[in-house]
Amino acid sequence: MRIDSIFESARETGKPPVSFEMFPPKGELTLDRAREAAGELCTLGPDFISVTCSAGGGGNFGQTAAIASMIQEDFEVSSVAHLTCMSLTQEQLSARIADYRAAGVENVLALRGDKPVPGSPAYGAPSDYAYAAEIIPLLREEGFCVGAAAYPEGHIECDDLALSVEHLKLKQDAGASFFVTQLFFDNEHFYRFADLADKAGITVPITCGIMPFMSRKQISRMVFMCGASLPSPVIKLLAKYESDPQSLRQAGIDYACRQLIDLANHGVDGCHVYTMNRVDVARAAMEALGR
Ligand code: FAD
Repeated sequence: MRIDSIFESARETGKPPVSFEMFPPKGELTLDRAREAAGELCTLGPDFISVTCSAGGGGNFGQTAAIASMIQEDFEVSSVAHLTCMSLTQEQLSARIADYRAAGVENVLALRGDKPVPGSPAYGAPSDYAYAAEIIPLLREEGFCVGAAAYPEGHIECDDLALSVEHLKLKQDAGASFFVTQLFFDNEHFYRFADLADKAGITVPITCGIMPFMSRKQISRMVFMCGASLPSPVIKLLAKYESDPQSLRQAGIDYACRQLIDLANHGVDGCHVYTMNRVDVARAAMEALGR
């Protein structure tokens, strides 16, 4: 099912969609392991599942479309295949789009991808695309329902939140019909951003991306990569459970659940859980949201 239709019916019923993100498992037997992970996630009844792709050619990026298609066909749950354009030539992007079509993908999250760092396979590769907005019309022409990424605290390369929202508007103008946010740990950031987006003329649904912290290492890597801020309650929990990984993990899940409940109570357009392929995370989120 198309994601814009899912949001449209949610608006009518007043029940915001709850969705999950998963990634193609690394290593061999990706599809078999993905089927296992996706199968478990699907039993929880999400409105859709999005599948990441690795920019720059690493991490089984070739399996994204196959996994998205398997979620739709084998488990009858709607799916979104991520597609990055950084380091792609026009020919390479056309080939990627053809693969997505051949796999039966209906919904695509159009992304630029992070800039390749020295030593990565894509470093120095020619790229015909600078921004995600450039590929959205191409994907729309091919008949996909297209979403894009939104940044409640601004994108890491953009110091000015208002400018980040202007860039978001460019993606809506190019044809994006829904947005998924980057993770955030303080809902106030999202409410401020949603207000700015509204004033800037963003009318398509924005679903809130929430990721529980699992360990100090995981969360440090995340915040350094994406520039999301750590509020003091999270820092205190990280300090409190520094030498108790099990309790820290549970504290991270509980914190994310409290965020989700607060967002739902504020009537957000949707909640998107970064499950990291962990069914216990997804289950806790669904229970918190009364699903
Ligand atoms: P863009 O929208 O192109 O923006 C990139 C930067 O350019 C921003 O700073 C923006 O403000 C600026 N900008 C945009 N337009 C203009 C303009 N016209 N002029 C000047 N500046 C401009 N990465 C992956 O590799 N694989 C994934 O599967 C993946 N999934 C993601 C899912 C979500 C929900 C999110 C939030 C991010 C995801 N990412 C993924 C990370 C994403 O690729 C990075 O955040 C990347 O750095 C930016 O991608 P974008 O599509 O938002 O870029």
